[in-house]
Amino acid sequence: MSNSSNVDLSHEEIQRYSRHLLLPEVGLEGQKKLKAASVLIIGAGGLGSPITMYLAAAGVGCIGFVDMDIVEVSNLQRQIIHGTENVGELKIESAKRSIARINPFVNVKTYQEKFTAENAMEIARDYDIIIDGTDNFPTRYLVNDVCVLLGKPTVYGSIFRFEGQASVFSAKHGPCYRCLYPEPPPEGLVPNCAEGGVIGVLPGMIGTIQANEAIKIILGEGTPLYNRLLVLDALDMRFRELSISKNPDCQICGTNPTITHLIDYQHFCGISPKTDANTISAEQLITATELSEKLATSTVQIIDVRSAEEYAICAIPDSLLIPLAELPYRLNEINRNAEVIIYCKSGIRGSKAVSLLNDEGFPKVKNLAGGIKAWATEVDEAMPTY
Ligand code: ZN
Repeated sequence: MSNSSNVDLSHEEIQRYSRHLLLPEVGLEGQKKLKAASVLIIGAGGLGSPITMYLAAAGVGCIGFVDMDIVEVSNLQRQIIHGTENVGELKIESAKRSIARINPFVNVKTYQEKFTAENAMEIARDYDIIIDGTDNFPTRYLVNDVCVLLGKPTVYGSIFRFEGQASVFSAKHGPCYRCLYPEPPPEGLVPNCAEGGVIGVLPGMIGTIQANEAIKIILGEGTPLYNRLLVLDALDMRFRELSISKNPDCQICGTNPTITHLIDYQHFCGISPKTDANTISAEQLITATELSEKLATSTVQIIDVRSAEEYAICAIPDSLLIPLAELPYRLNEINRNAEVIIYCKSGIRGSKAVSLLNDEGFPKVKNLAGGIKAWATEVDEAMPTY
């Protein structure tokens, strides 16, 4: 941790932090430790919001953010550091203003870039603690590896639907994320919150736990979540605690590590630029405008491969809902002789469905490029988007 011996608190700060100063576990010395500390938060989103707001309020002296996203309306249900008036702004700018409102004594550093193997070491080097507030596997492994290589603790949190997890990884004290999950899940198998949804208070609960762990580590008080994975089921409201231990064969923190520098995390997680774009040929794509013209003159079968919840929000007229996971079992509902158009939200699940139907020998299948989002933009502006 940073040295707190040169740090002093003003009268105003003493008043502000008085409820901390009364705690034997914090006191004046602990508050100085908080002021001397620096914390880097990866992602100014759902988890990043409560983490940042509480760390700022608690008087952590320096908070860094890495995020390059813009605030969208669909973020506001859980990303409480941003408000309605911030829609369209950079998240780091909006978050910076929120912190200044909460506590002007915090020094904020912003990095408007993606956290990558190229810049991660340079950004993370100067911070005491790194907090993972991301929602994707490549960044999660990257954050882990950076922290192991730099010898820093990572406060981990993840959320999905009603379930959350939290832990503190520190190669000095216990396992790292790779000890727990040596390999990422196959690409596309685990849906993210954008696909599967998340209850808005969940990042508040998990993010607040992460903020608490960071404060404890800075103070050197209590028992951080080293060697423990906390699992929260917010639907039944149950906390479970799993014991986790260091894997001696861990590729990065084990006895004989094979990873000694940062790697290509997109590749490691099975994400190639091509799979994101399309695994199907350009001839198997149809634009929303082309589809709308086609519907006026000919009959096609339209299959929606999103979830029932998404279908309830909006759907192209006369489309048949077959969620992607059910598609292999419901092929008999698709007309082999007709021209078949597949669509999803933005085109990715649709292209997987087209590949599957190609393999099953359906002769005339196309994917709606850009999914129903493109339809809402190009054809039906009255359609709600999500
Ligand atoms: Zn490890």
